[in-house]
Amino acid sequence: MPDSTTNVTPLRPRRPCPECGKPSARATYPFCSPRCKDVDLHRWLSGAYVIPARDDEDENDVSSDAKD
Ligand SMILES: [Zn+2]
Repeated sequence: MPDSTTNVTPLRPRRPCPECGKPSARATYPFCSPRCKDVDLHRWLSGAYVIPARDDEDENDVSSDAKD
């Protein structure tokens, strides 16, 4: 395994993009690009909408309960 640490400037640890793992860019930190920044934002927004509604799982409970 090659030692790549000698090639890195020891200024501060760079965080990889949370979306794709690429090195983050200064303009879009902590993301690597505006695109990844957008993806994360959309997932956060859609996730907030998904949490409250969960009705489809009720159907499975009916059949498993009627067994007496
Ligand atoms: Zn990215």
